[in-house]
Amino acid sequence: RTAKQPKPDWIKIKLTTGDNYQEIKGMMRSKTLHTVCEEARCPNIYECWANRTATFMILGDICTRACRFCAVNTGLPTELDLQEPERVAEAAENMKLKHCVVTSVARDDLKDGGARIFAETVAAIRKRLPLCSVEVLIPDFLGERDSLEIVMNSKPDILNHNIETVERMSDRVRARAKYRRSLELLGRAKEIKPEIPTKSSIMLGVGEEWDEILQAMDDLRAVDCDILTLGQYLQPSPKHLNVEKFYTPEEFALLKEEGLKRGFSHVESGPLVRSSYHAHEQVKSATAA
Ligand code: SF4
Ligand code: SF4
Repeated sequence: RTAKQPKPDWIKIKLTTGDNYQEIKGMMRSKTLHTVCEEARCPNIYECWANRTATFMILGDICTRACRFCAVNTGLPTELDLQEPERVAEAAENMKLKHCVVTSVARDDLKDGGARIFAETVAAIRKRLPLCSVEVLIPDFLGERDSLEIVMNSKPDILNHNIETVERMSDRVRARAKYRRSLELLGRAKEIKPEIPTKSSIMLGVGEEWDEILQAMDDLRAVDCDILTLGQYLQPSPKHLNVEKFYTPEEFALLKEEGLKRGFSHVESGPLVRSSYHAHEQVKSATAA
């Protein structure tokens, strides 16, 4: 275990709040909604909301897993809320979103892992906001192909599933998830609906080596993954994994080049990049590719 690393300057956030942000923020206050943007205190919230992008968390806020980097509470989840798809869609409409990301905790307690609620949420958003692109950021559904099929058949604009880290660090960083199973999921998504772009993310700074990052990129390209996001891991609390390294903006730029060289249609790489950051631009580049 290495000593605690001080936060470098480039990680500190500039707070600029545009008009759109204020407007959306006002709507959020009048509804009781859960966005990852707010709950994870995402540093990009002003920029994303000004661009009318937001990430909703469905299926509750208690996860059946306990990954060592993640701030979400672990425990026995609450009941399934069957009205949730409609409420998310209504919120997306009120917020006049152009790009909506739908994600969830891992619901290993449910037979389909929550896949149906994902599919219904996509359908409900489509109905109210036909022009809004919808990205799903899904858990691994314990490798169940049927669950993945349910989600793919709802035809999201992007299927996102994060491998989170390199193969060697996977068991240490992620709870119950497996590196190979995540790659398999991304490969299967392409088998089921080849026209839907797939996307994955690696957070950097948990102890991986440079070559291992490149290997993870190769592994993702081997299953035809289209879009890659790379961001800096930040420790949510002292109980969570230590940050082993802060990558410089130059290193992020180099990794972006490495990704593009490998054939990803879009690579977002930077200290504050999160899985859904600039997601609306990725839809454009993925469909243009
Ligand atoms: Fe929300 Fe994702 Fe943007 Fe963060 S990066 S503000 S979680 S949409
Ligand atoms: Fe957090 Fe997802 Fe891991 Fe659950 S499965 S602890 S929500 S990263």
